[in-house]
Amino acid sequence: MAMTNLRDLYVDQLRDLYSAEQQMLVALPKMIAAATDPKLRKKFQNHQVETREQANRLMQIFDDLGLTPSGHHCRGMEGLLLEGDEVLQRRGQIPPEVLDAALICSAQRVEHYEMAGYGCVRTFADMLGLDKHSKLLQQTLDEEGHADHVLTNVAEKRVNKEAEARE
Ligand code: FE
Ligand code: ZN
Ligand code: FE
Repeated sequence: MAMTNLRDLYVDQLRDLYSAEQQMLVALPKMIAAATDPKLRKKFQNHQVETREQANRLMQIFDDLGLTPSGHHCRGMEGLLLEGDEVLQRRGQIPPEVLDAALICSAQRVEHYEMAGYGCVRTFADMLGLDKHSKLLQQTLDEEGHADHVLTNVAEKRVNKEAEARE
């Protein structure tokens, strides 16, 4: 796609985020199944619900632009999820508490990656005077930030300590 102005870049970045959310929707069930701490599993499930909503918000924006979200594959998210998969493939040799701590690390890398992307597009939406888009994107940005905080809490309060107790 031609990229000659900020609006083109905005659309390109939105497509990247849409692909990222779609990939996350494929990965989350695996993460939910792998989590052993019930509270961690619950947090992942909550974020699965939020992630569907985040993809819907992007769809709303594409509808408003009269464009489709397809045609771009987010390689950054692919890489993050591949690294997460590497841990999952060795799960037989990893104690459950340590595996949970590793899942949190992977998930937090994803959240920070998403926050960077949504911060960019929210700013672009503001500059382009797309207030409705800006609000939708800010909502998602807040959710990703919240998800990150929630994971920090689970890690610091419980999972990391349990992992540390492993010899
Ligand atoms: Fe997301
Ligand atoms: Zn990307
Ligand atoms: Fe997220």
